[in-house]
Amino acid sequence: MSTFRALRIDKGDGGQTVSTVDFDEADLMDGDVVVRVSHSTVNYKDGLAITGKSPVVRRFPMIPGIDFAGTVISSTSSEFAAGDGVILNGWGVGETHLGGYAEIARVPAGWLVPLPANMTPAEAMAIGTAGYTAMLCVMALERHGVTPERGPVLVTGASGGVGSVAVALLAKLGFDVVASTGRPEEAEYLKGLGASSIISRDELATPGKPLQKERFAGVVDSVGSVPLANAIAQTISGGAVAACGLAAGMDLPTSVAPFILRGVSLLGINSVTVPKPIRIEAWSRLARDLDRDKLKALTETIGFDDIVPTAKAILEGKVRGRVVVEI
Ligand code: NDP
Repeated sequence: MSTFRALRIDKGDGGQTVSTVDFDEADLMDGDVVVRVSHSTVNYKDGLAITGKSPVVRRFPMIPGIDFAGTVISSTSSEFAAGDGVILNGWGVGETHLGGYAEIARVPAGWLVPLPANMTPAEAMAIGTAGYTAMLCVMALERHGVTPERGPVLVTGASGGVGSVAVALLAKLGFDVVASTGRPEEAEYLKGLGASSIISRDELATPGKPLQKERFAGVVDSVGSVPLANAIAQTISGGAVAACGLAAGMDLPTSVAPFILRGVSLLGINSVTVPKPIRIEAWSRLARDLDRDKLKALTETIGFDDIVPTAKAILEGKVRGRVVVEI
């Protein structure tokens, strides 16, 4: 295949344009593994890239799509051989390196993770960067000693991609999961994923005192800003908060009080540059600890032509759970 279908972002004097093109394989960037991409996903960051709302794309033209799964076509690396199932998420793919919304990708072998034996490429992308990030958050809380016995865990942005997978994972691990959502109509959905109770997004939306009633042993936060500050203020002594997102804002209007008076820990999660052994551990944990029926329940599948409208919808908070793209 010398040309293949791809979504391409170009930037000119009039701003950014997005179009479906026949992309020449010779124009792919350096890498020792060529992959036939079968599935990608739409994450929040893909929404930012495609709409241009935040400058996440650093090179033009760019094929967006921050993650993909597929089968190796050819490899000059001893790590992978033709026919291997692989997953890619992070490393600036879809931002600085041509990404997943294309039939073919060429990437360094060091960025790829083998597809776990009992996982299909479609399931891997139902998890995608968002679900993988949820797993990193859960692993960070576990490392900090947050256990079901210590108390409930709060998940903010619960109906979103990170949130939905976090709810399902934590429930399977035996946690009492409190899901915070701005969409009360998704209460049954969230209970189906394993949330034991639902709170309104509004409860965390107004600036509050730096120390509030201790409620949560742990928090998985994908929204940042005032809700994160309130979540920190409601974390029990010695508890921990894994912060990975900014759906409500980049700021964090808090004080040191929860840290120095309650020993609360704020654990930062960056999924993009995680070393390979931890990536492999996270994907094998996802293969083991994520209930496949729940994964199915939180996933919608779309075609290539639906990527752009879905990218716009995710920034408006209108996407529930995870979206898989069949490439
Ligand atoms: P989604 O859009 O799927 O989920 C975000 C959710 O946040 C929404 O579904 C909504 O949930 C809630 N939300 C949206 N707007 C607001 C608001 N103004 N105030 C409060 N809550 C809001 O995105 P993803 O799950 O893909 O990503 C979530 C966040 O995590 C993003 O900011 C993303 O950039 C970040 N992220 C970071 C990574 C990292 O490496 N650190 C990796 C992956 C994601 P509800 O309707 O239930 O309230």
